[in-house]
Amino acid sequence: MAFDVDFFVIGAGSGGVRAARVAAGHGAKTVVAEESRIGGTCVIRGCVPKKLYVYASRFADDFADAAGFGWSVGTPSFDWPSLVAAKDKEIARLSAAYRANLEASGARLIEERAVIVGPQRVRLASGPEFSARHILVAVGSRPTLPPGVEGLEHAITSNEVFDLPVFPRRLVVVGGSYIAVEFASLFQRLGSKVTLVMRAPNVLRGFDEDMRNGVRDAMARGGVALRYGCSPSRIERQAGGSLRVMLSDGAVVDADQVLVATGRAPNTKGLGVEAAGLALSAHEAVKVDENLTSAVPSIHAVGDVTHRVNLTPVAIREGHALADRLFGPGGGAIRYDTIASVVFGTPELGAVGLTEAEALERFPKVEVYKTDFRPMKATLSGSGERTIMKLVVDGATQKIVGAHLLAPDAGEMIQLVAVAMTMGAAKADFDATVAVHPTAAEELVTMRYPSAWYEGGNRVG
Ligand SMILES: Cc1cc2nc3c(=O)[nH]c(=O)nc-3n(C[C@H](O)[C@H](O)[C@H](O)COP(=O)(O)OP(=O)(O)OC[C@H]3O[C@@H](n4cnc5c(N)ncnc54)[C@H](O)[C@@H]3O)c2cc1C
Repeated sequence: MAFDVDFFVIGAGSGGVRAARVAAGHGAKTVVAEESRIGGTCVIRGCVPKKLYVYASRFADDFADAAGFGWSVGTPSFDWPSLVAAKDKEIARLSAAYRANLEASGARLIEERAVIVGPQRVRLASGPEFSARHILVAVGSRPTLPPGVEGLEHAITSNEVFDLPVFPRRLVVVGGSYIAVEFASLFQRLGSKVTLVMRAPNVLRGFDEDMRNGVRDAMARGGVALRYGCSPSRIERQAGGSLRVMLSDGAVVDADQVLVATGRAPNTKGLGVEAAGLALSAHEAVKVDENLTSAVPSIHAVGDVTHRVNLTPVAIREGHALADRLFGPGGGAIRYDTIASVVFGTPELGAVGLTEAEALERFPKVEVYKTDFRPMKATLSGSGERTIMKLVVDGATQKIVGAHLLAPDAGEMIQLVAVAMTMGAAKADFDATVAVHPTAAEELVTMRYPSAWYEGGNRVG
């Protein structure tokens, strides 16, 4: 049967753009539909603008630290509209580069919404339909709002926060996720008085317990007010425009903005996946097998819409592997066990592999190497910052199964630790590696003795 196209990609974000470019490169007749801006969440309203704002926020620390090194800095001031404008310029450049690369690959870009109307059929919002040999669902995810909060229409999500017309002098951030932590940390540094409200007893569920505590302490040191075990029950607009947030524990917090960062859900509403005979998971995600193919053999999905590892490089890697498998030489298996992730607070938290608690559940013998120290820069700056590093080792094989770093530039360090772990590094390989001095990273190769070891889940030393 002849099809209009070989490959119809819905969504020009991280995963969709990569899949389309690679498929077109293999000679597949490829169309990509995008209902918003080219580049997707990461480029337009996620990783990239976030990291630019994190950079902006850290000048606050640099100005404060400078005096300890002999500098006198006048009274620094920060102009939010300048930062937003500079960010807009860079995002426009990046989005244009995504478009240019896509078009140069030979893929055709259609800038409108597309929905699935059959196992091999897609309809554009303007009406035309395409038959496609393969359909890729790469529609990403969107922020979700918690149910049962009166006045939630006054709150914003990460979609709006980057472009606020007025800098929020007082900001309530709701949630304990990495996104909540990052915004709390960066807005506090830019000059907001931030209150972080979460239902959980600590930030960053799923991360190593010592690192969660380290991040919590760093935020508290930085001046973020942390409120655990509660959630907003009502948000009221006050005369004069400010917001009043009533919390479930009876407390009241006044703010200029309330940022809700409590979760994200796949963008599958109204997408027509059911029309194609596909069932969604409980999280509204498209379920795929290890080949990234759904229960319908012609429909595939990558990235956030599968709600597995919601990170840009994962979406990209999946899109690439799928296009290689469908139209090229065949895609290699993706290693999901050594995907590093970073929380871009200040300092950063980088993690790869298992937490200490996860390792205890998985292995009969576990060794933990941990160090907690004052970073060298803090000796002169006088800041109270701490660096915490932890290696988790399978006691039987001596392989490193987890690494967790709370440190300046931990994002840069953890990438390289992830390479070592992907290669199967053992603790002895780290020990055999000569240190780089003076650095924080040298601690990774100089932790000689376990700080804790366990047998059968019990601590024995
Ligand atoms: C605030 C924030 C910070 C983040 N920081 C990081 C980070 O530091 N590092 C990291 O790795 N990840 C980060 N992420 C996650 C990262 O952005 C996502 O994992 C990544 O963008 C997923 O890529 P994707 O291709 O699955 O979806 P997306 O990049 O979201 O692309 C999906 C695209 O599909 C389009 N679309 C949806 N439905 C349709 C339709 N029916 N028709 C046409 N087009 C449609 C959307 O408009 C969108 O452009 C962050 C996310 C957020 C929100």
